[in-house]
Amino acid sequence: MAHSAFHSLTLKELLESIQDYPEESVQLVEKAYHFAANAHDGQKRMSGDPYFVHPVFIASVLAEMQLDPPTIAAGLLHDTAEDCEGVTIEVIEKEFGEEVAVMVDGVTKIGRINVKNWEERQAESLRKMILAMGKDIRVILIKLADRLHNMLTLGYQPEEKQYRTAQETLEIYAPIAHRLGVYKIKQELEDLSLSYIDPEGYRDVATKVGAKRAERENQIQHIIDVLTEKITAAGIQDFEIAGRPKHLYSIYRKMVIQDKTFDQIYDLIAVRVLVNTLPECYQVLGIVHAVWPIMPDRFKDYISNPKNNMYQSLHTTLMGGREVKTPFEVQIRTHEMHAVAEYGIAAHWNYKEGKGGSQMDEKLYWLRQIIDWQSEARDAKEFIDGLKTDLFADEVFVFTPKGDIINMQKGATPLDFAYLIHSGVGNTCTGAKVNGRLVTLDYELQTGDRVEILTSKSAKGPSLDWLKVVKTSQAKAKIRQYFRKAMRSESVGLGKDMMEHEAKRRNVKLGDLTKPEYYEPLLRRYSLADLEAIYGAVGFGGMTAVHAVGQLIDEQQRQKDKEQKKTPPQLPQLTPTFKPQGKPTQGVYVAGGPGMLVRFAHCCNPVPGDEINGYVTRGRGVTVHKADCINILNSEPERRIEVAWADEGSGTFMAGLRIIAYDRPGLVGELTGHVGDSGIKVNSLSAKANKNGTAVIQMSVEVSGTEQLQQLLNRMKRRSDVLEAYRTGN
Ligand code: MN
Repeated sequence: MAHSAFHSLTLKELLESIQDYPEESVQLVEKAYHFAANAHDGQKRMSGDPYFVHPVFIASVLAEMQLDPPTIAAGLLHDTAEDCEGVTIEVIEKEFGEEVAVMVDGVTKIGRINVKNWEERQAESLRKMILAMGKDIRVILIKLADRLHNMLTLGYQPEEKQYRTAQETLEIYAPIAHRLGVYKIKQELEDLSLSYIDPEGYRDVATKVGAKRAERENQIQHIIDVLTEKITAAGIQDFEIAGRPKHLYSIYRKMVIQDKTFDQIYDLIAVRVLVNTLPECYQVLGIVHAVWPIMPDRFKDYISNPKNNMYQSLHTTLMGGREVKTPFEVQIRTHEMHAVAEYGIAAHWNYKEGKGGSQMDEKLYWLRQIIDWQSEARDAKEFIDGLKTDLFADEVFVFTPKGDIINMQKGATPLDFAYLIHSGVGNTCTGAKVNGRLVTLDYELQTGDRVEILTSKSAKGPSLDWLKVVKTSQAKAKIRQYFRKAMRSESVGLGKDMMEHEAKRRNVKLGDLTKPEYYEPLLRRYSLADLEAIYGAVGFGGMTAVHAVGQLIDEQQRQKDKEQKKTPPQLPQLTPTFKPQGKPTQGVYVAGGPGMLVRFAHCCNPVPGDEINGYVTRGRGVTVHKADCINILNSEPERRIEVAWADEGSGTFMAGLRIIAYDRPGLVGELTGHVGDSGIKVNSLSAKANKNGTAVIQMSVEVSGTEQLQQLLNRMKRRSDVLEAYRTGN
């Protein structure tokens, strides 16, 4: 095992560390010790040591951090549920109670990660760590101690595993230890990781640090002697002063990442002074500054401005002098601050608990810190390169009644949760319970909440108001989808009734008109999908029944005429080999050459890409229609003339659009926004609200051709609040 400042305790020492706790707590740890010893009996670590060495080390680390007996017990038991026959979480709960069982379960779950891909694995293990933190920070402290021991014994693992484990430790565990302020573990994790990730760099730094060690130690002793004398003289009786070993990884970072030479690292020589009170900290600072000249810009007051992880201390760098020839650092803090500096949240947690502070507040405070951290770009980048960890900043983590973890965006409500589980759960939702208590559906979910959705088969379904309650786009889309379906079938029925009524008024049977050969030209003309879409368009109020039935009758009539005349093809071949000649007029070539006046018909508004046909109007040149325009199809064939679009869109063309969507404030603005984004100009616009909560928006836009128009229509159709979007004649 590699060297560590932590060491394994005997059972007697373990129990001594918790002697201030009630007798039954001490017995709990003793029982866990024997239980784990028994459960792991016969198992061996890769090193060949008995497996039990591992949980004992972890319990010892936890004991040094002065954690409470249940945590130490959980540390002893942490691998039993995973690896020992006959031991389950239920057994642990029965033997040691819920508190211990929950912690053991938490540690076990973090370890269980089922993703293949390495980056996913990292993200997943980070996610689990953060989640566990939200539930019980002690789980993470056990996990950190577990990882420390695994790193100390990593040399026995296969090489491939060594590198990956070291990488994961450096990228996930060490930063979490840092964030929780558990520096003592963090520094060991970093140094151990480095020795596997860059063995050469590690040796190089170690050699350089080792080279002048004796010289440095003499200098440190000199500083200690001088300070001891001055501080004592100032009347401070109770203080500790010691040299502070710099951990290798921080030197490595400064050399490799900040590109400094070994001589540019000022804090290789460092001394730490621990005192009892805050005023004494500043008093000692004054003494230090009186002895040696201060190095400008290196003084840091982390007492007035604690670091995010609650670290408090005074740091100052001195220029040195005759005896100490290089700059050196002095850190000054109270014993209490020092405990936080070494054990971070563990110390803080204990301390607060001792004073009767609220544990829950503390946990949430730390969780907030972690979440804040995720949003700090620099740290996040360090954390997992190439992986967007700020994902976590806007998330809350909640639990299903079964204990599964669901992560949702911040602000999410029980309704979002219900729709995330299944749209069926959402649509039949009648209420929700959070942590066993009924809440309103707009309750804002908090990390750690256990959410239970109440459903009923006779629920009346979502209401439009729910769209204002839900925060996630998935839930919104699912609610709209529900209405879209419900309204569509309602509108289709309504539209059909209206068309039947109109057909009756005109003395025809709708059934005779709704034949594919009659309605297909309509589908093409309005880019609708099927007959139901025509009914729907009428039902939504996007098209009048008079118009739809009229068009069907016209089409039927036209085809009957065609049949009677029996003169196909209908389009006269004026110039059988029509080749565009000369210059186009307004982007259109006209058969027979240039010189004809060209205008575009307002009944169908053709745009480049449409099949077109010309119609010679006396004295007004050629009017260009869409080839399927009902007006040109009904015109005198001898006055038709072939026309063709010039290759590249020259100029813009008018086109009509009709959109049927759920009405709400801002809708028209958003829709015209799409038009603007597509580089298309809106010429006119009208909107009408229907009683059923929908709105019909009619726009006239300027496009370069069918392609641009189709893109715009597709974009509209992709919106979940748009029921129909189609092109109209005008
Ligand atoms: Mn373990």
